[in-house]
Amino acid sequence: MTTQLPIVVIGGGTAGCTVVSTLAAMTTQPIVLIEPGSPSVHDDESAFFTVLSDEALSREVQTTLVDGGMDMPYVQAQVLGGGSAINGLLLTGEEPSFLSGLTRMATEEDCGQVGTALLAENGRFSRLWWNGGRWNPGRAVQHLVEEGRVTVIPESVTYLEHAQRVIKVAHTTNEAIEGSLFVMCAGALATPALLLHSSLERAVSGIGDGLQNHPTITFTLVLKDTVSQRFDATVVRESCSSSGADLLTVAYERTNADNTTSGLLSVSLMNPESRGGVWRSNTAMQHDFNMLATIRDRVAMREAVRELISTAMSASFSAISHQVLVDSEGTSVEVLDAMKNAELDEWIAVHLTVVSHAASSCHDIVDSDGKVRGVGNLYIADSSILHSVPPCSPAGPVVIEAARIARAIGETLT
Ligand SMILES: Cc1cc2nc3c(=O)[nH]c(=O)nc-3n(C[C@H](O)[C@H](O)[C@H](O)COP(=O)(O)OP(=O)(O)OC[C@H]3O[C@@H](n4cnc5c(N)ncnc54)[C@H](O)[C@@H]3O)c2cc1C
Repeated sequence: MTTQLPIVVIGGGTAGCTVVSTLAAMTTQPIVLIEPGSPSVHDDESAFFTVLSDEALSREVQTTLVDGGMDMPYVQAQVLGGGSAINGLLLTGEEPSFLSGLTRMATEEDCGQVGTALLAENGRFSRLWWNGGRWNPGRAVQHLVEEGRVTVIPESVTYLEHAQRVIKVAHTTNEAIEGSLFVMCAGALATPALLLHSSLERAVSGIGDGLQNHPTITFTLVLKDTVSQRFDATVVRESCSSSGADLLTVAYERTNADNTTSGLLSVSLMNPESRGGVWRSNTAMQHDFNMLATIRDRVAMREAVRELISTAMSASFSAISHQVLVDSEGTSVEVLDAMKNAELDEWIAVHLTVVSHAASSCHDIVDSDGKVRGVGNLYIADSSILHSVPPCSPAGPVVIEAARIARAIGETLT
């Protein structure tokens, strides 16, 4: 009797766990999930910075934000459920309809002083990935493991062995996992890195091209009163810059898990056109987001920062903060306000903040069902296949696309 080879899902994050749950409902074929992170123990914790402070749930990789700029640490989830287990809980875009009831709108009771100040400056409550607990797709996978439907291998894939344009084996340091079909869900930085490390660029051109992220600038508010909020971010403001770019302002009640005397105010350019990439130089993997590479993006980001300055200096924010600082050296927002455009542009390029919204680094290499062109049995279903970084908080589009691709894969299985 021959044993049926499993479907192998690589990366058990937002997309990977969604793919596993969807496929498990459609096929009896064995499913193996390879994910180095453990299940999270923080799904009942509503404060974003408290969850983020658990270093066991993430790892940092060095990346570049602006071409030629300094390398900076980029936080990448490493936990069953991926970014959904540690994200800021904000869901500013469309709620995936099949998750209806598992998210909810924030209310006045959830909101702290920074959120209240942004409400007064045209902000609105955000929908949250929360309804009495965090929405983490890793929990559904744990149930499937308990039922014996899915096997999780707690390791990292190091390379994919292939022959004649068919993937045969996913190798980890300790295991070689044969499969019939492989679905990459390691995220927008790790998925292209793994494909390049497996020398698949000979069969597939364009791996890693088109990487995007949301350019973001963050100010620190030195608060008059200390904070004791359940949620760290509940209020956002969507606006349009004078040149027509989409902006998102977010109010944070703290700056990190231990700090109750400062908050944050950030602004992001939500529809950037600049694109970077993931590539291999010698044996090392490199990423460059290549943000603000076009004049349109630089103008839009300048308008975004001017809008943030005006919000930070408004009566609503002056009422809650002693001072607004724009960098780690303690420069006050008034100094930024006095800058001419050229000086402000230079300042922005140096002070961009990393947000963990990487996307779109494998869009060019898949067809509309996530199948890698030119390889027989390889699919990608994570944030790397989005055609651009979404103009909203990204987990929603990632879940919608992952479920759609899993359904398309499921329909091909006999
Ligand atoms: C700190 C933080 C805050 C965020 N806040 C928000 C928010 O408020 N709202 C929102 O909508 N989005 C937010 N996001 C973004 C959102 O979580 C991501 O866009 C989404 O999780 C991406 O899904 P993914 O499946 O592509 O990758 P991930 O969810 O990152 O999953 C990738 C998984 O692959 C695993 N992996 C990596 N390499 C390998 C390998 N070699 N072998 C096997 N497994 C591997 C990782 O351990 C990880 O679990 C946030 C992200 C972070 C990190």
